[in-house]
Amino acid sequence: MGTRAAAFTAKIRNLNDFHTRLLHGVVPAPSGLDIANTLKYFSQTLLGVLREIQERPVDMLRHRDQDTIRLALFPNLDYAGLHQSIVALVDIMPLIQYGTQAFGQAMLNTLACLVLFLERKVIDTLPYLVASMMTSIPESLHQQLITILCYHILPVTVGAPAVEGEEENYAAASVPAVLMMIFQYTDNSAYHCQLLECLMSLKSDIAKDLLCVIAYGTPTSRSPAANLLFYYWPSLNPTLYDRRGIHIKFSGWKPLLCQIEECDGDGTSEAVKVCFDHAVCLGACPENPPPLFLCIDCAEEIRREHSTVEFFDILMPMAQVSATCENKVKQIFFFVWKMLYYCDIVFCYT
Ligand SMILES: [Zn+2]
Repeated sequence: MGTRAAAFTAKIRNLNDFHTRLLHGVVPAPSGLDIANTLKYFSQTLLGVLREIQERPVDMLRHRDQDTIRLALFPNLDYAGLHQSIVALVDIMPLIQYGTQAFGQAMLNTLACLVLFLERKVIDTLPYLVASMMTSIPESLHQQLITILCYHILPVTVGAPAVEGEEENYAAASVPAVLMMIFQYTDNSAYHCQLLECLMSLKSDIAKDLLCVIAYGTPTSRSPAANLLFYYWPSLNPTLYDRRGIHIKFSGWKPLLCQIEECDGDGTSEAVKVCFDHAVCLGACPENPPPLFLCIDCAEEIRREHSTVEFFDILMPMAQVSATCENKVKQIFFFVWKMLYYCDIVFCYT
């Protein structure tokens, strides 16, 4: 066993030791900072491993049929063991007395790094795992949790197209639970909107997942689910008479900011492009897990240095949803769509 593999396994034992001490109340109990420092070792080691890879694993992660090729690229470290230790720590998060902020940050960052190295059946459980952290992380980390979910986890799980012959996968099936968890543990409508708009860009029948929350969710989660359903699908509730009791205002979510430190916008420019080339990502931002999100000026700057690198558009906040459609052709389309939609709901829920 190589030195790096041995050190990696020894550090996993440290994590397991922290878990046991917290679980059984052994004094002195480890603080969140102790665990965060160990987790930082893992995120740095994983990014170090990634630097040595010539191929494009970040691209491959979005394609389920390339999993075998992706996993063959990495050296033999105990990635599954690290994942198991992280899952165990998520369960005992409420027992951590001090340093929960540092712990939560390190945990989310490590998961964003680790996702590349895991098997598909484990990756598909990550949306639920990250959403379940919502129950115990400090409120100041809610935005980071939603960002990791929407930009690092959901696009490679719910957004990765199913392979031929595969029935619904775990990630897609866990979407109602993820929605419920977020609706339940934060009442910030900007987070609700960001999560839902992200899922709408990745999954076709997201209205059915909302209906699932409305039908089977907790009392707290049902109300935002119903409001969001009528907000994003106003044609379900088209007349002023139907909407008379609804006075919900949705504040738009804030787009991600450019991740380049030397950005001319001084941390105020909105990111509009994403880069999946990990060599470019880690060259520009050595501490951040890829992919890299950047403003148009920084994207142009990088393109001048690396002419072959590709950039892709990212999801921006949806503009105000119009309750009534101004376009006659669209009105006919919505009428037909609505009829089909109702037929579908009746068919699926009877
Ligand atoms: Zn920039």
